[in-house]
Amino acid sequence: MTLDRDAFFIDGTWTAPASGRTIQVVSPHSEQVVATVPEGTPADIDAAVAAARRAFDHGPWPRLTPQERIDVVQVFSGLYAGRLAEMADLITTEMGSPTSFANLAQSPAPWMQIEAFLGIARDYPWEETRTGVLGTPVMVRREPVGVVAAIPPWNVPQFTIMSKVIPALLAGCTVVVKPAPETPLDGYLMAELLREAGVPAGVVNIVAGGREVGEHLVAHPGVDKVAFTGSTDAGRKIAAVCGQQLKRVSLELGGKSAAIVLDDADLGIAIEGLKFTALMNSGQACVAQTRILASRTRYAEVVDALAEAVSGMQVGDPMDPATEIGPMVAQRQQERVEKYIAIGQEEGARLVAGGNGRPDGLDRGWYVRPTVFADVDNRMRIAQEEIFGPVLSVIPFDDVDDAVRIANDSDYGLAGTVWTGDQAAGLDVARRVRTGTYGVNTYTMDFAAPFGGYKASGLGREFGPEGLGQYTELKSIYLEAPAG
Ligand code: NAD
Repeated sequence: MTLDRDAFFIDGTWTAPASGRTIQVVSPHSEQVVATVPEGTPADIDAAVAAARRAFDHGPWPRLTPQERIDVVQVFSGLYAGRLAEMADLITTEMGSPTSFANLAQSPAPWMQIEAFLGIARDYPWEETRTGVLGTPVMVRREPVGVVAAIPPWNVPQFTIMSKVIPALLAGCTVVVKPAPETPLDGYLMAELLREAGVPAGVVNIVAGGREVGEHLVAHPGVDKVAFTGSTDAGRKIAAVCGQQLKRVSLELGGKSAAIVLDDADLGIAIEGLKFTALMNSGQACVAQTRILASRTRYAEVVDALAEAVSGMQVGDPMDPATEIGPMVAQRQQERVEKYIAIGQEEGARLVAGGNGRPDGLDRGWYVRPTVFADVDNRMRIAQEEIFGPVLSVIPFDDVDDAVRIANDSDYGLAGTVWTGDQAAGLDVARRVRTGTYGVNTYTMDFAAPFGGYKASGLGREFGPEGLGQYTELKSIYLEAPAG
């Protein structure tokens, strides 16, 4: 079956592109073209925004009751649940996510998000009446923010689309999604399911394309809010445009998170945990905890255990269920990771696993060797800059205060973990690290709770009632005191 497409999903129908430009989706494993799809241009974005605008200003969706919208999204959720394996495979095909990870996070997790948001929407205070300071009633309404531009990255495409589209839909917004050029395919399956679920025409429109069309969408006067996940550099530019236009904006950006291994940690548990928290999705994860902080007392032990564990990880075909590390998404990403490995060596860090060069037995595909550096100083570039690949830095600390200081010595503040035998001590560390999410002996994202970043990791939050709130405007309606 071909994965090729020749249209965009605009106004509830397959719409011919405005130009003949195309995107070739290339498998990061085989380096072969796996699909050709149209590439969005500003004219396609204009058509998508016009459809979303009409659906918002004149269509039924924002005027339905919250329960009526919940009913439609519930149907979508059921359809999505039936296609999880297909969706995971599509994402593995387009961006090389190991199938073990894809079948956990690339489609089941987005579906869990849908279900979580449905539950939140059922209990959400869409309209509440309070007693005001003068004793008279005041109604607080949560109304849809309007037309939303949803811009996801390629690393977890459905995960970062659902976190925007579902709360937007439940709030009564309409949406234009612009998938990244590396991952346009999953959006087509999603479009089919939205149509089948009965989401009205124009409520969700999907046009894949690169930075240029993303910029056009962000600045478009027909867009009321931008919801972006991607790099901090792009986030700053988007925030500047939105600031100028006073457009609502939420940003989920980069990270350089730290995992702190305390002296009383069970090292077996910690290393197993770190293999996931640091290297999930082949290290291409915003929450990847690639700075491993270990006390000087147990430093050598942690370095050895980590080097052994990482050296033993299976690298290769992402479709193989045993694969733990797949290819990088693109050649430029492979080159970027290799550049950072070289920088680490130039900076004087000690290579204890991996290093540059092809992994054994892989003569094509954008693979890198999972790499561990020891004797890393937190001021080094490999400790400060987001690499977005399987490269870990092990940094020594003197005591818990020093560990917290190093964890916080970062421009970013997205995630982190502490590994300890004493949960109370772990919670104490969790309270002191300035990040939007944190885990004690685990890092399992929970869609009931807000997710997002401090500092250069973002603005606003996704998930939980807080994430739904990002798609609402608050209106206060002052009422007369009831008669009598
Ligand atoms: P990127 O910023 O290059 O691109 C992200 C998306 O934005 C793509 O769709 C791209 O086409 C578009 N884009 C780029 N510049 C734009 C601009 N100026 N205006 C409008 N659109 C623009 O990021 P990427 O390389 O695709 O993704 C990797 C980055 O995403 C990493 O920094 C990672 O940490 C971050 N990320 C963050 C989270 C989070 O939740 N915090 C989740 C996943 C990824």
